[in-house]
Amino acid sequence: MTVILDKQMSEKTQVLEVPAPDLIDREFIHEVFSHDEFGELRTFVPLTNHQLIFQLEALGFETGRQFSKGKNRFQRLRLDRFEYIAFLARKKMAEHGLQAPWEFIFDSAKQRAGLCNYTDHQISLSKYLVQYHSLDQSEQVILHEVAHALAGKDAGHGPNWKQIAKSIGYRGEKFTGKEIAEQTAKWIGECKNGHRHYRYKSPRAQLACGYCGKGFNRRYLISWTERAA
Ligand SMILES: [Zn+2]
Ligand SMILES: [Zn+2]
Repeated sequence: MTVILDKQMSEKTQVLEVPAPDLIDREFIHEVFSHDEFGELRTFVPLTNHQLIFQLEALGFETGRQFSKGKNRFQRLRLDRFEYIAFLARKKMAEHGLQAPWEFIFDSAKQRAGLCNYTDHQISLSKYLVQYHSLDQSEQVILHEVAHALAGKDAGHGPNWKQIAKSIGYRGEKFTGKEIAEQTAKWIGECKNGHRHYRYKSPRAQLACGYCGKGFNRRYLISWTERAA
């Protein structure tokens, strides 16, 4: 995916208060989190409206504190971007028949977007990816990994996996950890021809640009700068 190259990381920190909780449905939530700036949705519902509270929970909302206003008692509810993506992932997994022991978790990987772990029956997404990428990109990674779970370990990225992936809505764009590295790697290197390189740890040895020439060539030394915190 080349969509986010050169795009600054957008802050996904804003909270959207929704004064009319009965308007919240799947499309509404999806629309809100499709805007990169929103990290959380909040609302409140009269405690007597069990049905609406139940509906919102079914959409991934978590109940928070209750409060009183006048004679009425209200239930706070919140849904953050992480919860929503976990909700989407679990929904996709269920849709395609991945039941327990299969589960969804977030992991801390920085070099890859997602993982299908056959041993532990886990599909995981990098929690970094979620912060740096759009909802659509996260969904694509979920589908990529769900297809791995369905196709089985031996399928790799072969024709069987490809066919399944396509049939569940994966569009097949290349997806690596490159974009994440571009946003998070501490060390940024550049050769004299302007090729960019990324390292998470301080590069000890002198490195030459692999795009400019094969093997070590002094002419294509990479000069490194540390990214400001
Ligand atoms: Zn894969
Ligand atoms: Zn180069």
